[in-house]
Amino acid sequence: MSGYERSDNNFQGDSMSSLFRSLPSVDACLRSLEELFPATPHMVLLQSCRAMLEELRNDIRTGRATTEEEISLEAVLPRLRRMVEKKDSPRFRRVLNGAGVVVHTNLGRSVLAKEAREAVRVAASGYSNLEFNLETGERGSRISLVEELLCSLTGAEAALVVNNNAAAVLLMLDTLCKGGEVILSRGQLVEIGGSFRIPDVMERSGATLKEVGTTNRTHLSDYENALSENTRAILWVHPSNYRIIGFHSSVPAVELADFAHAHGLPMLEDLGSGSLMDFSSFGLHDEPTVPEVIRAGIDVVTFSGDKVLGGPQAGIIVGRKEYVDKMKKNQLLRALRCDKLTLAALEATLRLYRDPETARQSIPTVRRMSTSAETLQERAEKLRALLEKELPGLAEYSLRDDFSRVGGGAFPEQGMATTLVCIHPQGCSAMQLKKRLLSTDPPLVGRLDDRYFQIDTRTLEEDEFRDVVLVLREALQECGVSSAS
Ligand SMILES: *Cc1c(COP(=O)(O)O)cnc(C)c1O
Repeated sequence: MSGYERSDNNFQGDSMSSLFRSLPSVDACLRSLEELFPATPHMVLLQSCRAMLEELRNDIRTGRATTEEEISLEAVLPRLRRMVEKKDSPRFRRVLNGAGVVVHTNLGRSVLAKEAREAVRVAASGYSNLEFNLETGERGSRISLVEELLCSLTGAEAALVVNNNAAAVLLMLDTLCKGGEVILSRGQLVEIGGSFRIPDVMERSGATLKEVGTTNRTHLSDYENALSENTRAILWVHPSNYRIIGFHSSVPAVELADFAHAHGLPMLEDLGSGSLMDFSSFGLHDEPTVPEVIRAGIDVVTFSGDKVLGGPQAGIIVGRKEYVDKMKKNQLLRALRCDKLTLAALEATLRLYRDPETARQSIPTVRRMSTSAETLQERAEKLRALLEKELPGLAEYSLRDDFSRVGGGAFPEQGMATTLVCIHPQGCSAMQLKKRLLSTDPPLVGRLDDRYFQIDTRTLEEDEFRDVVLVLREALQECGVSSAS
């Protein structure tokens, strides 16, 4: 028996090695690709050929390819073609956001206003006065490009901008609390998406965290008992992403500021989202605006540039001059500063805030957060009618009332009323449709429930509807094909 087995194996081994020998050569592969893709860099073609040959070797090894025809250049050319196209396309892609989450961190948070995009173009296209004082002709400071605007919009004495809010918190604690203690309520020991943990950042800064109170209750006496000669500041962290509901209490930031000042300490606040607009008239409550926080007597406030503010990724620091000046002199700033494209986009965004109505209309994040339920219902009806007209028979389309979220940790428990366009595909499941839509160009991200793929038009512009129809057509048609076969 064993004799037969061995000869069987040998037979298989022989045919395999002859298949391996008949694999196309890298040169032959390259020659045919160069004809098909005359403008594509040699490097991409070479990588594709090598990857293709590797796949074929694997096919032979696993028995998926058993004949010479299957591994011929002719037979694999369509596969090879797709490989080149995929390898040659940029990894950074535009995505259609049909999820309705306005500040979607995974989708790049805020979309910039037209004015900000234009400022980025100018900053990117030529030299600029980034650190050049045009009055004296000498070295200037990059922060001066936005400091005055930030001060007049927030009421703060001084301002500074760094790479993101995590960097802002790090710089603030490193400058003001290093080697000492900073007191923080246990109810605010937060972890934000992307594993940004307040305690870990503090540790990096060389400040020691003095936790007080319990998760759900912290009283002024807890702070009082924690005071020592090592105390450098009191910190308030905005509890992004979650709320403690039910039996809880915390000391209001205003009261805490008075307490800190009575003991000669600075009161610091990591506000997270940091809005310059009051959204309460749009049904979004309980988030203080930056000017309100400054008015409440908080000495240093940090917040993100690309969350509710609607600008580029940045960490904005505003507050009392004596503290901000110290931060400006911290060597760490050299590693945390932001670049010219960011500053250009930030200045242009902030300029729009000088008139609140202009800000509401021109900054996409602000506009999307304040779009009314009626407008969204009309928009959803428009999209449904378009889908019924353009893609009949491929799916069933209906509408449903639901809620959108702001995202980015802002207004976590508050939904904004919206209308979803629900798509019930004929040829496949909603889950399969969702997957297919990830490989269309551009990809479309939506929501999913049991039977429906859902699109929230809060985060789509009407001029994107054409693209939505195009990618849905492609995905739904593929759906039909695969189920028929
Ligand atoms: C989002 C957030 C951060 C981190 O801000 P980035 O700009 O993403 O670095 C820090 N603290 C709070 C409270 C936040 O909400």
